[in-house]
Order: sequence, then structure tokens, then C-alpha cells
Amino acid sequence: MYKYKRVKNQAPLLECNDRFILSIDNHQEIIEALADFAKKQKIKAGVIEGIGAISEATFRFLDPATKKYVDKTFEEQMEITNLTGNISVKDGEPYLHVHLTCSRRDYTCVGGHLLRARINGACELLVTDFGQTQVGRRFDEETGLNLYDF
Ligand code: FE
Repeated sequence: MYKYKRVKNQAPLLECNDRFILSIDNHQEIIEALADFAKKQKIKAGVIEGIGAISEATFRFLDPATKKYVDKTFEEQMEITNLTGNISVKDGEPYLHVHLTCSRRDYTCVGGHLLRARINGACELLVTDFGQTQVGRRFDEETGLNLYDF
């Protein structure tokens, strides 16, 4: 599903544990692969950043007025110009919050809260694991979002 290389923490006094250079295999779905990776590495809090190329992406837009989700799928070859996200824990499982901006053949961009994206080319990510720090989530009635639970 993916290959990775661990980058040992060079500054052990920092809370940050290790970083991983992660390459998800071609034709894999990014969120599924990231969830598997976070679970196997037991990451309880972290950040994700990366680039790549995809043939399909589905974004989710939450309308604050209705608290209803509107999903939209783009089926075309696109470059990931930026993938930014974080890892936390909800109900004992890794919880991913990922946003993606990608560029189309005509160099315009689409983006948003990422539900899923299919790699067509490569997906190169950097995952930072905050080690022993755990960050949880809880559902917030007012916003309809799973917010950080500190
Ligand atoms: Fe979001």
C-alpha cells in the first residue's frame, strides 16, 4: 500500500518524536492508506504534508447554516499542489483531518476538505509524529464538527 522511511528525531528534547517520509503506492486511495499508516505506527497526534498526482478527488463542504455536508467529486488528472492535515484520535481510532488543493490541466485549482483521492502517479508525504502526546476529538453541537478535545 505504501513505503516509508523513518527519520529519527534529531532534537530529543522536543516533544516531537519521529518523522516519516511516506510514499503511497500508485492507484491507492490516500485517506485509506494514511489511516492504515497512522494505526500501524500508533500515531496519537501528528501532522501531514505532501504533494503528488491524482485522477480523482472527492471534497466535502459543510454548510454552517444547515450543518449539512455537500460532497463533490472531480474525475480528472490533477497535481496535488498542497496536502495539509493532522492526525488525532477519536473512539480509539486514528482520526484524519486532511485538506487538499490540486491543479487541473488548465492550471486552475480546486480544493477543500478531502474525503478521498485516488493516486495516479505518485504521492509523497511527510508525517510528523508527536510521540506520547495524544490529541482526542469530540463532537461539537454548535458547529457540527468533531473538534479537538483538550
Ligand atoms: Fe476540514
